[in-house]
Amino acid sequence: MQHAARVDHLRAGLERPLLVTSLVNIRYLTGFTGSNAFLFLSPDRSVFITDGRYAEVAGDLLDVHVGIELSVYSSGLNETLVAAIGDATDVDLEAPHVSWAFFRSLDEQFSGTLHPGTGIVEALRRIKDADEVAALRRAATAGDDAFAELDYLRHRSTTEDDLGQELIEGMRRHGAEPADWPPIVAVGANAARPHHRAGGDLLGDGLLLLDYGCIVDGYHSDMSRTVWVGDAVDPEMERVHRAVLESNEAGIAAVAPGVRAHDVDEACRAVLRRYGYEDYFVHSTGHGVGLEIHEAPWVRRNSDDILEPGHVVTVEPGVYLPGKGGVRIEDMVLVTADGHDVLTHSSKELQPR
Ligand code: ZN
Repeated sequence: MQHAARVDHLRAGLERPLLVTSLVNIRYLTGFTGSNAFLFLSPDRSVFITDGRYAEVAGDLLDVHVGIELSVYSSGLNETLVAAIGDATDVDLEAPHVSWAFFRSLDEQFSGTLHPGTGIVEALRRIKDADEVAALRRAATAGDDAFAELDYLRHRSTTEDDLGQELIEGMRRHGAEPADWPPIVAVGANAARPHHRAGGDLLGDGLLLLDYGCIVDGYHSDMSRTVWVGDAVDPEMERVHRAVLESNEAGIAAVAPGVRAHDVDEACRAVLRRYGYEDYFVHSTGHGVGLEIHEAPWVRRNSDDILEPGHVVTVEPGVYLPGKGGVRIEDMVLVTADGHDVLTHSSKELQPR
């Protein structure tokens, strides 16, 4: 679906006029990638508002978005927004994305009523169209390509942080842009901390947990693998790895349209329960991925989300034994009309090849 169709689709379903302020949502609706814009949408009008720096770029948007009005301001943002809103008396703001200060100053100028809208554009973003799936697929592939070079990247690196930078460079060589979050590279007992930040610890034999991603055309990838470098695999970590791999596979097997996200989480959890590791699985099973690295739907306990064709979610169970180490295995999974399609293809073996 192209941008103009997304705007039409959204407008057709609006409960009341909406002022879009989230730049991610504006990118989704218009393709605009600048740092300042607003989009006012009502059943009969669309106004794209930006400042003089983006006047030319915004002008190009008009070719795609037939009928959209362009409002370029140099000062007086609130007056500009009120003028764009026109005679609408009730307007939704994107409550999670506006500051109290923004709300207060607009409310002072606007004679109507501002309402706290939530998740209006995000509801559309859950379902990826063919172009979006293609971008997500390319981002996942860049992650796979970097993983395939792991031995080479490891030999070029001394510390966790070095390897993180090498992974970023690797994905860049394979056509991706760096993500806005740093790779997690954790050796040995560091892997017991799910959100360990790659630091100065030296790479060596033993456990190595990687969680990293990239961006292609604005769309994120996210993957985790845990490997054992060298011989003498620790038997306990081998068992943990077996449990997490089975859990990851059970979660993926559960992904299908009409399935509750809660049930995917439960499928992962049930395996770890059987192994006696459930208490060591200290985060949720997964999340949607798209223009944001974490977005709806949410794959976690008691999630009300129901999977639909076009959703792309991660399945990333992990087990973390404090002081010893941890294992996480994460794939991106597309929900299809009759099941699922795994977008991440890297080996999940503890000792690949
Ligand atoms: Zn993730």
